[in-house]
Amino acid sequence: MDGVADRPSPKIKLMTPLQYAHKPSIDLLAAGGVTGIMDPVAPGIPVGSDTGHLALLGYDPHVYYTGRGPLEALGAGIDLQPMDIAFRCNFATVSDDWTVVDRRAGRISDEEAEQLSSVLVNLSNRLSLDAEVMFKHTVEHRGVLVLRGDNLSEKVSDVDPHKEGVKVQMPRPTDSSENARRTSEVLKEFLIKSKEILENHPINIERRKKGQKIANALLPRGAGRLPNLPLISERFGVKGAVVAGGAIYKGVCRAAGMDVINAPGATGTINTDLESKFRTAIDALNRYGFVLLHIKGTDSASHDKNPELKARFIEKVDMTLGKYLDKIPSDVIICLTGDHTTCSTVGEHRGDPVPILIHGQGVRIDEIDRFDEFACSKGGLGRIRGLDILNILFDLANITKMYGE
Ligand code: ZN
Ligand code: ZN
Repeated sequence: MDGVADRPSPKIKLMTPLQYAHKPSIDLLAAGGVTGIMDPVAPGIPVGSDTGHLALLGYDPHVYYTGRGPLEALGAGIDLQPMDIAFRCNFATVSDDWTVVDRRAGRISDEEAEQLSSVLVNLSNRLSLDAEVMFKHTVEHRGVLVLRGDNLSEKVSDVDPHKEGVKVQMPRPTDSSENARRTSEVLKEFLIKSKEILENHPINIERRKKGQKIANALLPRGAGRLPNLPLISERFGVKGAVVAGGAIYKGVCRAAGMDVINAPGATGTINTDLESKFRTAIDALNRYGFVLLHIKGTDSASHDKNPELKARFIEKVDMTLGKYLDKIPSDVIICLTGDHTTCSTVGEHRGDPVPILIHGQGVRIDEIDRFDEFACSKGGLGRIRGLDILNILFDLANITKMYGE
């Protein structure tokens, strides 16, 4: 559960959402399992969902992280090649002098963004510099941009200024290489051409008529190349799969060599179809040795500074888990945790440790019968690192090979 851990909030009787929520099924797993707290990367280091998930899968982000762009691109279904340069990208509203009016383009719908992105598909042919540019819409105003060609570099600055009311910063090389200079130029030309095209798109003409903000610019950021991860199958000898709504989670898992299984109705929002996700994940256990089920709503409610909603959403997850618990084969090791703390008082990720529980045959059941930040801190696992979770799980499943002879 993304960002499931929290700090006590005055809005819910100075409890955390995990303490405040009524969650009999999750607590049942805690009672029959072993619990602890976990630092995704290291104590006190707030991580993003990208670095957090890399760590949960055992990849030290200090070694393997190459930026969010390539992970988003993989998650969006692009077959990223080692030479490609990938960016995260927002549709935005900018004025004639490229001042950012709205970083989310008046919160355009998925359908509108999809139609707008279709006109960008063939734009590469009209660029003077020789490079292929791919844009793919993901959710709401978000998408990914990939540059493909020879002699490109990830050493280009963010175009997105990350705030409104300031001018867009056209891409600049961040080192002195010819490739970085060339990449900046390709990107700049694409951005200028795409703005011309987007401004006259029927969707934007219609939005202008209705007095809505138009989506007339793309703001790329987070340039990077495909990370080179040792695959789950090589590390543990089993195939892995992920069930998730958001692109970034699918992307991290694809980079680790896992398959993406799409659950109908999985949106990566608080209104996602949890039943569909649980069904899909449990079904995948028939074909895969490792399945990651990612649930985003806990993080979203925290960013909205709504601990009450977060607690209600945890209850929804708990109810769904309750329905499916007896469908999970008894030889499955279940682990429940989060990728970081998201504090619903400040609305941001924090470096506090995250509760974790492990349930299944052979675990050393402790005395903890609740899954929350306080109870789990007294659990039998103690305080562990995110990097060690998969080793612990595969060891419990009797899959891990002995080190030494
Ligand atoms: Zn996260
Ligand atoms: Zn978050």
